[in-house]
Amino acid sequence: MLKGKVALVTGGSRGIGAAIALRLAKAGADVAILYAGNSQAAQATCADIEAQGVRALAVQCDVKDFEAVKAAVDQVVVRFGGVDILVNNAGITRDKLSMRMSEEEFDQVIATNLKGAFNTIRHVSPLMMKKRFGRIINISSVSGLMGNPGQANYAAAKAGMIGLTKTIAKELAGRNVTCNAIAPGFIKTDMTGAMNEKVLEEAVKQIPMKRMGEPEEIAGLCAFLCSDEAGYITGSVIQVDGGLYM
Ligand code: NDP
Repeated sequence: MLKGKVALVTGGSRGIGAAIALRLAKAGADVAILYAGNSQAAQATCADIEAQGVRALAVQCDVKDFEAVKAAVDQVVVRFGGVDILVNNAGITRDKLSMRMSEEEFDQVIATNLKGAFNTIRHVSPLMMKKRFGRIINISSVSGLMGNPGQANYAAAKAGMIGLTKTIAKELAGRNVTCNAIAPGFIKTDMTGAMNEKVLEEAVKQIPMKRMGEPEEIAGLCAFLCSDEAGYITGSVIQVDGGLYM
């Protein structure tokens, strides 16, 4: 389905990003991942990707850093010859009620989760426009749709990603480049693993499906949005949240 395509997945070392990287590899794409610092996890993901019979590349790169992202994209292009699929998945949380949140906690989350997505799009979209093909998928969150106490920084970044998605979709549609957002609910990863168990238990009670999601349940939709069959879907925000927000 994605044979001959090159995918770049940010935050591909762990969690949802690793599941997406593997799913795209299973569909036949060569996959490059960007990660912050966990080299061991990044190498493990690369081994899983290569086990699918495709090429893998891991680049340590802080998505907050505009020039570092440019250098990383250049590296991917040198190795694989281009980028057809971009998945903006790298993200962090710094949860705290807004009256206690520091300026740094706010800035770090916006810079990673929102500006990070702009940085990659800025450097990858010219390649896609030239090729008259591209798929951009931004991993937002239901927090960006419904708000969430303790996540003023995160919800603002994730809502910002939705505005970014729709704007990029409009700007690039004429060049056959689609841009969509996925808004996951609670998914089993290190990010939610770090949450207070009681808080998580209460959150699960609010989910109509009465369970958390698996990273693979995000990856499946992501792979579909990358496929030729999804060529007429752009500017959409698709929830994968067990019915949490409706
Ligand atoms: P994890 O904490 O499990 O993984 C985060 C990933 O992002 C890691 O690969 C990490 O790299 C990378 N990363 C973090 N900061 C940077 C940075 N500055 N530059 C490059 N890479 C970075 O997160 P999840 O898998 O849970 O989340 C993935 C995405 O999905 C995030 O955007 C998150 O907001 C979103 N999401 C998650 C939900 C959930 O319930 N888990 C729900 C809704 C949305 P390294 O391994 O090197 O640290």
